[in-house]
Amino acid sequence: MIKITFPDGSVREYEQGVTGLQIAESISPALARSVVSCGVNGETTELNRPINEDAAVTLYKFDDEEGKHTFWHTSAHLLAEALQELYPGIQFGFGPAVENGFFYDVMPPQGTAISENDFPKIEAKMKELAKKDEPVVRREVSKADALKEFKADGQNYKCEHIEQDLEDGTISTYTQGSFTDLCRGPHLVSTGLIKAIKITSVAGAFWRGDAKREQMTRIYGITFPKQKMLDEYLVMLEEAKKRDHRKIGKEMELFMFSERVGKGMPIWLPKGTDLRLRLQEMLRKIQKRYGYQEVITPHIGSKNLYVTSGHYAHYGKDSFQPIHTPEEDEEYMLKPMNCPHHCEVFAWKPRSYREMPLRIAEFGTVYRYEKSGELHGLTRVRSFTQDDAHIFCRPDQIKQEFLNVMDIIQTVFKTFHFENFEAQISLRDPNDKEKYIGSDEVWAEAEQAIIDACKEKGLDAKVELGEAAFYGPKLDFMVKDAIGRRWQLGTIQVDYNLPVRFNLEYTDEDNTKKTPVMIHRAPFGSLERFTAVLIEHTAGHFPLWLTPDQVAILPISEKFNDYAESVRKTLDAKGVRAFVDFRNEKIGRKIRDNELKRVPYMLIVGEKEQADGLVSVRKQGGGDQGQMKVEDFCSKVNAEVADMLKAVDAQ
Ligand SMILES: [Zn+2]
Ligand SMILES: [Zn+2]
Repeated sequence: MIKITFPDGSVREYEQGVTGLQIAESISPALARSVVSCGVNGETTELNRPINEDAAVTLYKFDDEEGKHTFWHTSAHLLAEALQELYPGIQFGFGPAVENGFFYDVMPPQGTAISENDFPKIEAKMKELAKKDEPVVRREVSKADALKEFKADGQNYKCEHIEQDLEDGTISTYTQGSFTDLCRGPHLVSTGLIKAIKITSVAGAFWRGDAKREQMTRIYGITFPKQKMLDEYLVMLEEAKKRDHRKIGKEMELFMFSERVGKGMPIWLPKGTDLRLRLQEMLRKIQKRYGYQEVITPHIGSKNLYVTSGHYAHYGKDSFQPIHTPEEDEEYMLKPMNCPHHCEVFAWKPRSYREMPLRIAEFGTVYRYEKSGELHGLTRVRSFTQDDAHIFCRPDQIKQEFLNVMDIIQTVFKTFHFENFEAQISLRDPNDKEKYIGSDEVWAEAEQAIIDACKEKGLDAKVELGEAAFYGPKLDFMVKDAIGRRWQLGTIQVDYNLPVRFNLEYTDEDNTKKTPVMIHRAPFGSLERFTAVLIEHTAGHFPLWLTPDQVAILPISEKFNDYAESVRKTLDAKGVRAFVDFRNEKIGRKIRDNELKRVPYMLIVGEKEQADGLVSVRKQGGGDQGQMKVEDFCSKVNAEVADMLKAVDAQ
């Protein structure tokens, strides 16, 4: 008998060689029907693999991240099987699971192109094959045999992959029906679980992402165990299209891109800048309360700075290349991160334990080279501004600093109504401690500090072993937006590496020199990314305090333009952001247009309003709110704004 330990800590005994599926069956038939793969000692594997010794086992359903991966990865094989039947002679590259579904890179036979018109045919073939519920069978093969087999099939890309990347003794293949793929797994036990199938798009992709190699066809799809789940997903996709921040950003005149300025370099337009400055002001206010001090550092730094920090060795080749001075033979780099500059701020003068924690903040613009094909709106850019800060502290201060940063992040989430969020703690791999910089004690202390801080906050964080960077453990936050998509926002990262590389030190209480701990943190991540998430979360209906135009004043006819303008001036004096819609249009048209522009309040002014110093108030989505004195309306807006920002302004 062997002992199987479950995630809740319970232990059951099974015959040696028991499979994940049998374990699920022993718990309940319903569970057995919904499991898709299992984790054995942290490694995801097939449900039909025998377990031969004591192990920690997690059963994964489709709802689990790991389960989805297994499901979609197997679906990629199913797609390939269908393509092989539809296009004999087709060659396959790689076919991984991705965040929402899977893709396969293929080279169709000469003279054939696969386009959107072929999607129904491909989906139908996949469904036909899935219905057969073919078992997915694993084989372990030698490199020579694998090469022979795939060569015989004319699979040149697979052969190249075997020859260049794989080692003898590590190669496995999986077969379902007539299709065999080179793969490490894991997969579903059989294809019948795949019930709902959608091919979503097709694009060109270079083999191995190398622009000098052949252009292949990348076919994307998504699958689900239930038709209803696919239907819901498609509705969400439609909704996501409407919320696309690139589209809304243009409609609301928030930002633009210019090929002449450069790809992936967003330009914030006046309304967007206005919004961004308010985001900065908000964070500034909160940070000040937690003792942050702001600095401003240059947009470039000497190449040596990044050699010292290690960034050059790590990312140098993939960065914007150094700028050479015309004389004196100096080299500078566009700043890819703010941390080295802030290390220099710390090192600027002798530091004492009394100054710690020293919290250095900067809205620092950084530049990172991304391939042009990978750029996307404000979420994947080449220049962006981080709401960055670095905390230099003593090891015993880590926990309190984590508590403070968590407070800041939660204040931000609360203010933007991101009610749904998850946290993940990334720790060392306890079986591979040599991989990490810093002593065993400091790691143990920091990891415990993060876990304790989460506990103290009542935060139910998922702990991931082996996910920490080599230089320190971290805590990440993921938010769910209004239509259920997950976005990573907010990271707190401990760093034992940079303080050593920069020889940072402070004089401790006992008069000895010590190395500080550094913590990197950014609640928004970047202002660009956060704004994109916010647009897609709110569909452009920003909260009243943040939105560029709070009020549109609509004169019924041009006779009331002067009164409208005087109302605007009163609002302006009270700090309410308003504009007058002077267009010579019918009032109904003006109302419709300004609703579409997502202006929260509209004030309609005509004869009666002018005579009595009133405005007729309409609220976005809330219709007619009746008449009001101009001053009363201002107080109402300001009270609403103050209420929204009470977490920010709290003392
Ligand atoms: Zn596979
Ligand atoms: Zn940093």
